[in-house]
Amino acid sequence: MTQPAILRVAVNAPLSRLFDYLPPAGGDRIATEALLPGCRITVPFGRQKQTAVIIAHADRSDVPRDRLRPALAAIDEAPVLGEQDLWLIRFASNYYQHPIGEVVAAALPAPLRQGKALHPVIQNIRITEDGSAVNVEQLRKRAPKQASLLAVLQDVTSIRFEKLDELRPGWRTVRKNLLDKCWIEVEEVSEAPSMAEAADAQAGPTLNTDQLAAVEAIRSSPGFQVSLLDGVTGSGKTEVYLTLMKDVIAARKQVLILVPEIGLTPQLVSRLASRLGEEPAVLHSALTDTVRLAAWSAARSGTAKVILGTRSAVFVPLKNPGLIIVDEEHDNSLKQQEGFRYSARDLAIARGKHLDVPVILGTATPSLETLQRCKDGAYQHLRLPTRAGAAAPPLLRLVDLTIHPSADGISDPAITAISKNLQEGGQTLVFLNRRGFAPTLICGGCGRMAECDRCDARMTVHASSNELRCHHCGASRRIDDDCIECGGNFRPLGHGTERLEQALKGRFPDHSIARIDSDTVRLKGTMNRALSMATTGETRILIGTQMLSKGHHFPDLTLVVVINADQGLFSTDFRGSEKLAQSLVQVAGRAGRVKRQGQVLIQTGYPTHPFWGELFSGGYEKVALSALEERSNTAWPPFSRLALIRASAHKLEDAKAFLETALQLIAPANAGNIRVLGPVSAPMERRAGRYRAQLLLQSVNRQALQRLLQTLRVQLENDRGSRKVRWSIDVDPVELF
Ligand code: ADP
Ligand code: ZN
Repeated sequence: MTQPAILRVAVNAPLSRLFDYLPPAGGDRIATEALLPGCRITVPFGRQKQTAVIIAHADRSDVPRDRLRPALAAIDEAPVLGEQDLWLIRFASNYYQHPIGEVVAAALPAPLRQGKALHPVIQNIRITEDGSAVNVEQLRKRAPKQASLLAVLQDVTSIRFEKLDELRPGWRTVRKNLLDKCWIEVEEVSEAPSMAEAADAQAGPTLNTDQLAAVEAIRSSPGFQVSLLDGVTGSGKTEVYLTLMKDVIAARKQVLILVPEIGLTPQLVSRLASRLGEEPAVLHSALTDTVRLAAWSAARSGTAKVILGTRSAVFVPLKNPGLIIVDEEHDNSLKQQEGFRYSARDLAIARGKHLDVPVILGTATPSLETLQRCKDGAYQHLRLPTRAGAAAPPLLRLVDLTIHPSADGISDPAITAISKNLQEGGQTLVFLNRRGFAPTLICGGCGRMAECDRCDARMTVHASSNELRCHHCGASRRIDDDCIECGGNFRPLGHGTERLEQALKGRFPDHSIARIDSDTVRLKGTMNRALSMATTGETRILIGTQMLSKGHHFPDLTLVVVINADQGLFSTDFRGSEKLAQSLVQVAGRAGRVKRQGQVLIQTGYPTHPFWGELFSGGYEKVALSALEERSNTAWPPFSRLALIRASAHKLEDAKAFLETALQLIAPANAGNIRVLGPVSAPMERRAGRYRAQLLLQSVNRQALQRLLQTLRVQLENDRGSRKVRWSIDVDPVELF
């Protein structure tokens, strides 16, 4: 095989195209394998040096030959990314209209992005035959330092650099002399990560009929097939995963399991480890670079049989893939909401199809997209309708805030229920998806509210630090004393978790109460500690945000109080009712998972809202089906596809002008099957000092929309107006803000 003429590489830059380079100078010394697609090389880029990944070879380039620059050096001896991995990267870049270099960057662990070795390299010095023959005593007279080094090597034959540093400090100064005389040679061995030894697997419960049916249905088609495992919380979905994972491991293949949040991994890691007898390789953002790289290479080399990770783990190379599981498939955090905006769930499905392996989507509250695919017959819908073991489903009850008095946001019936639950030895979770003391500060005189200087948003009161903070841009300032308009006094308006904590501590001073939200778990390790105190039952009342509503298993928890569900009832988001029902059902699922039946109290000021009727008569499924019907009538997703073009600038006109340009570029390319809405200001027009506008594209024809975006993106990249704005294309956006 001869060296390729031109290397087409992806560089980590916000540009759609690939860049052409000549192979590095120094020809034959570089192995041809080191220039295969999937290998990293360093290239000159502008005035800098960059790590790039070879995507393809080419015979010719659009750049004239004399202007093509040679790459600087090869990094890898063989591809770090295989053909399948490159396929996924190209697919994601095309589908999400995102620069391929940035997609590659998202797919690689940081050390590899920075050009470091895949495996930390161990360097050894080895003695040659000539070296062994040297008479060290004679040499000592002329060159004592060389002799001293050679003496060590004649004893041990081969030794690590670091070991020599200990034994013969200063040996490096004579290394060259000995190399030149061919008495020694340098040997490089890479240290591949070793995974923990397999332990004995613990036996699990005998599967019930529904679980067995699900397992059989998934086993029945070994190739690509998407199965929705739709089971209420505690129905034993994880047991179904475990059974199928054992099949895969027995066949010497690998399982990739994606979860939406880091918080969900610790409990799952230990459960997988003890039940499978295999320590899973874990991939998420809170790990150190080295640990993550080790897990990544264990997946790549096939040493790891089970890989558990958050969103970006969807890109991890797998030597021998056998099954992909996406847990909590409905969860918004599976979609990245900034930069490269991809859905890990949707990419997992695309990847499963390409690899021809089964994909399981597990959840108690399926997304409407997934439900519709089941109705279309594209996915198989497997149900686990009842809780496994003895646990009964939780009892839901509305608390009408128009008739029941409440103090500090907590109604009398809720206080009574908490007291009773405490007496009976139960644990309580008070859920409020709003951190801080109060959502805002209001002037008692004129009604003015404390606003952020940089956003069209109110400042949140954080009493413990005596600060106002903006949850949108992170700005903070000391709590305002008096109103500058009228001199009136400010007071906090509404309730956040901090205020709730204060109120509950006042009410129940003899019980241990803990608040778990992103303010209290900011420090490393605090989350795990707080969770373990909650799990052992040491904490009697838990106050939490969204963070606590998912996946966690608190054996003692028997009562859940939802402080405020009303925001979701009047949301302008077309996904409002879907999201509200998901979050209520998920949080309710925390209650009564073991012995006693759980109770859920939902406080609302709008008890007659039709949403409640649906939820109470038919549960999540009824809400979902009615939302699907509504979307079908209005042709919103999943009955159409959306793409949102966002732009922001220091001046609103610049952002709007850029989108006007987009509009003009779209018009001639639109065969009439794409609906264009906007440009309009974003719902929050100003954020962190920038003005934001957006243009929404909607179509029932996905291909047409994709084709249009493909051209539009390149045109916009080259447009002069694009330099004044920050812009992005969000394909299948989950939020329209
Ligand atoms: P999910 O993943 O749906 O929330 P899990 O798999 O975690 O449910 O199961 C919930 C609880 O029920 C766990 O404690 C689990 O050990 C238990 N469980 C699951 N399946 C069975 C079964 N077939 N028999 C007895 N207990 C079971
Ligand atoms: Zn702000």
